[in-house]
Amino acid sequence: MKELSVYYCPGCGRYNYSRPLAHMTCPVCELPLKRLTSYSGFCRLNEEERDKLLVEKIIAGNPAACSRFLAYIRSCSSGEAAALQTPDPRCLESENQKLNETIQWMHQTIWDLLLKNKELEQTLEKSPTKAGRTGKR
Ligand SMILES: [Zn+2]
Repeated sequence: MKELSVYYCPGCGRYNYSRPLAHMTCPVCELPLKRLTSYSGFCRLNEEERDKLLVEKIIAGNPAACSRFLAYIRSCSSGEAAALQTPDPRCLESENQKLNETIQWMHQTIWDLLLKNKELEQTLEKSPTKAGRTGKR
């Protein structure tokens, strides 16, 4: 008797456990299922490792799946985070530049706010009526 194997759909990542059969198709995509690994090997993996194995296999067998994954990831995240997935180093450079500028801008804004706060404090200190200082300890 042959050992159980794990079969997966290269289109949607659904999988099932089965003995080798001549013809199995995904009930959703109707694509022929491919063998992923042995059942016993699959059982040793945790959920995360199983997903990783599936994703690796799907991408290896179908490079177009990469763009589908990326499109999905991008749809779930902001533009900046998605751009970090871009393998083109020139894109990364300009993206890093943009991030650095954002950080600099944030620092400048925080600094400006701190300065304004200090000015406000000094103004209040000088104020003879001590207006607005009631809340201060
Ligand atoms: Zn499928």
